[in-house]
Amino acid sequence: MLRLLRPPADPQRREWWWLAWVALLAAGLLVAGLWLEHQRVAARERVLLAKQAGVMHDNLGMQLEAINNAMRHLQADQRKGLDGADGHARLMERMHNFADAMPAVRTFSLLDADGRVLASSAADLVGRDLSGREYFQTAKQIGQTDALLVGRPFFGMLGGWVLVLGRTVPGADGAFGGLLVAALDVEHFQTLLQSVRYAPDMRVSLSHGDGMRFMVLGADNEPDGVNLAQAGTLFTRHRESRQAASVLQGFPQPGYPPYVMALHKVQPSNLRMDKPLVVAAGRPLDDVFAGWRDQAWRFALVYLLAFSAAGVALRLMHRRQNEARDQAQLLEAGQRRQQEMLRRLVESLPGMLYQYQLEPDGRSHFPYASPGVTDIYGFAPEQLLADAAPVFARIHPEDLPKGQVNIQESARTLADWKSEYRVILPGIGERWLSGQARPQRLDGGAVLWHGYIHDVTDMKRQALQLQETERLLQQLMNDMPVGLCMVDAQRRIYFRNRRFLEHFGYTEAEVPTLHEWALLAYPDGDYRQQAAHAWGQAMAGARAQGGVIAAQPYRVTARDGAQHVMDIGGLLFGEHFLATFQDRTEQQAQSELLHRLAYVDGLTGIANRRQFDQQLEAEWRRCRRSGKPLAVLLLDIDYFKQYNDLYGHQQGDECLKAVATALRGQLGRSHDLVARYGGEEFVCLLPECDAAGALHKGQELCHAVQALGLAHAQSRVADVVTISVGVACQVPDGEGSPAALLQQADMQLYQAKAQGRNRALGAH
Ligand code: GH3
Ligand code: MG
Ligand code: MG
Repeated sequence: MLRLLRPPADPQRREWWWLAWVALLAAGLLVAGLWLEHQRVAARERVLLAKQAGVMHDNLGMQLEAINNAMRHLQADQRKGLDGADGHARLMERMHNFADAMPAVRTFSLLDADGRVLASSAADLVGRDLSGREYFQTAKQIGQTDALLVGRPFFGMLGGWVLVLGRTVPGADGAFGGLLVAALDVEHFQTLLQSVRYAPDMRVSLSHGDGMRFMVLGADNEPDGVNLAQAGTLFTRHRESRQAASVLQGFPQPGYPPYVMALHKVQPSNLRMDKPLVVAAGRPLDDVFAGWRDQAWRFALVYLLAFSAAGVALRLMHRRQNEARDQAQLLEAGQRRQQEMLRRLVESLPGMLYQYQLEPDGRSHFPYASPGVTDIYGFAPEQLLADAAPVFARIHPEDLPKGQVNIQESARTLADWKSEYRVILPGIGERWLSGQARPQRLDGGAVLWHGYIHDVTDMKRQALQLQETERLLQQLMNDMPVGLCMVDAQRRIYFRNRRFLEHFGYTEAEVPTLHEWALLAYPDGDYRQQAAHAWGQAMAGARAQGGVIAAQPYRVTARDGAQHVMDIGGLLFGEHFLATFQDRTEQQAQSELLHRLAYVDGLTGIANRRQFDQQLEAEWRRCRRSGKPLAVLLLDIDYFKQYNDLYGHQQGDECLKAVATALRGQLGRSHDLVARYGGEEFVCLLPECDAAGALHKGQELCHAVQALGLAHAQSRVADVVTISVGVACQVPDGEGSPAALLQQADMQLYQAKAQGRNRALGAH
């Protein structure tokens, strides 16, 4: 319960809490106000009713007094003497005059001790015997008295209710000697009763002190003559209260709705009436409070409407708040997901994303740099927040001036910045970087770039290497004592060497394609067809057998008209081919050169991948026939990347040569083969060698390379260059394949690396 007195912590519940309390308070005030109003209405009604009852009381009292006075005068007249016709006639006249003057009085009459009418304002009553009347019996019983006797009303012979007032007349002995009566016409009081009514539902009545009601107004269809002196009625309660006047709430008669009623006893003290009259003015409580009830309903309705509206409004407001909050949460979750995604993206990017800002005064800094900046420049992002100078200190001195010009240029023209440059990182050495960024001018004149920089050292090296190889090849081909030309898929001659030009004397413009060349070289159409046929066959043979176009003699015509018999052959590279032209005498030299070009690795002088692949196929077939095992060893130099990084690429090449020579020195048998498989990987082919022998050979090769003693400070397995070897061996069968054998060796090599390097590993 106490919890309800404390406002809840949740803001929306707190608002409900406040609303509930305000509603409760308002309800309290409303009830209190209505209660006070109820009291006020009741009090006002009681005052009004009491006043009206008072008016009736006063008026009736005065009339009774007047009648009493008249009767006293008549008593005095009677005492003076009725004797003689004069006295009797005078009394009759006085009675008649009084009755005339008093509209309430029907008749005044004087009855003797036996109840006979001696005199009366109505002459026809004289002599009538009224001894049977109740009022006479009562008076006689009471005996001589000075009080005003009030008889019980009765329904008169002439119609209408009659109230009889009486005063006793003493006989000669002072005892009861007769009765002077005034018969009152009750209808006469109707005007008085009517005049005090102020509401149509108001009920006024006149009753005898014994309880008989002989006049009532405001209650249609109700008979007069009802006895009110029943248990629990307002009349009884008033009588029991012994008060002259009271205002009560209760039931006027059994079976009636509750009333509020003012009752007033009419019994002026100077009259000494034996029985009082009782006037009453009342209204049903229902009608008294009808206005109040309407008002109460209206207030309750307004109250309900107001607080229902407040409740609904609060509900709507909360719903809107909740919707807005849900939406905000959704948005926030989305943003968080996006940020998280971005963060992960940025962290896993092999390079750095950044913002670089150049101030008008020349200072610059990195407002943002992704974690990759540590790999790129060797600084943490925070180190560059305020000043970019440390980065410039790491840029290669040869590249720095051009780099700075580039930045200035991009800042001036707002064109994208793009650059490739070198940095020198402590402990790592020289690295090539490539970057690009988009500038944006800020309000204060500063320029902000958003960009990306990544390490292109390997790519750069490979590109440089490729350039060099290409240059060497070009030179070699140009200088060769054999005519050479290269032809593409469209049969365009896109390279021709010096010797080719010397042989034929045609300019490039004269023979742009093989077709033009053939037209000039074979001027005879039939022979041209023959030559084309022979060449087509040689090409088909080359496609079937490793790309070597077998050389055949052709009769060709040079520009000067001279005819030569030339061996024309070549090499097929996919859609391209290299054609060789040689006078027969030069054939020996040519075939050696071709072999070199085709099968020997340029750097190390040992067999190349092409030779290895061909020999593997051949040995596979041979061993399959003979049922002998065939072993393959795959070798890879350990931490060679670091070697290159530390000692430079050139030294790396030297190392490759030394390793190749060492490997070749270890293979004694004529059909064993060592080849450069690519990069810093080598491969050995050992026909007719079982698994144990091959593994042993692998270990020997490891030792041999280590024994070279080539310093390698960055290796984590030794301080000299080492290799790892993967060995695979099988007797070739229908299910296996040379490729599968190689793959096995590769898997073993991978294991050897994983298990710590500088070792040979083979499957058992
Ligand atoms: P691991 O022990 O795992 O083999 O480490 P590694 O550094 O040798 O790894 P990986 O095989 O990835 O690196 C080969 C490196 O050899 C990459 C390249 O820089 C270098 N490389 C490949 N071919 C040549 C080449 O002809 N000459 C030189 N100098 N380096 C080469
Ligand atoms: Mg490798
Ligand atoms: Mg390696």
